[in-house]
Amino acid sequence: MKIIQKNLHFLEPFESLEKVQHIIVHHTSRKHMTAEECHDFHQKERGWSGIGYNYFIEKDGSIIEGRGQHVGAHAYGHNRTSIGICMTGDFDSESPTNQQWTSFLWLCGYMLKLYNLTPLQVLGHRELEGVQKSCPGKLINMAEVRSQVTEYI
Ligand SMILES: [Zn+2]
Repeated sequence: MKIIQKNLHFLEPFESLEKVQHIIVHHTSRKHMTAEECHDFHQKERGWSGIGYNYFIEKDGSIIEGRGQHVGAHAYGHNRTSIGICMTGDFDSESPTNQQWTSFLWLCGYMLKLYNLTPLQVLGHRELEGVQKSCPGKLINMAEVRSQVTEYI
């Protein structure tokens, strides 16, 4: 597995993360979106520096670096202390592809090792206090994620 760098241009300098406490999982909630499209969307529509996620996983399983190991813009109140991983898809109505799922578990395990975290520190966006949306989608069982990721640590 490898992490692909796309030379995305960010409008502002990156900021250093504080002590990372969580991996936060997201979906795009759009069925088709590449990392570049997400980057453009966050920059032009949202008015952010660039793609808000730290890592982005496309349907073919490609892992693309967004903010990388820097402060992202993906989970209000948690951006300085978490890594946000987003998968393309609307997981309220479709499941991740097998390639996406394998890449996701690998990346999640890699980040847990890197930041010395446990699977219990992997959270779905909706599990954060005050979040109303279903992100990363109703079909994603976070308990199952935390269980499956143990094999990738
Ligand atoms: Zn989300």
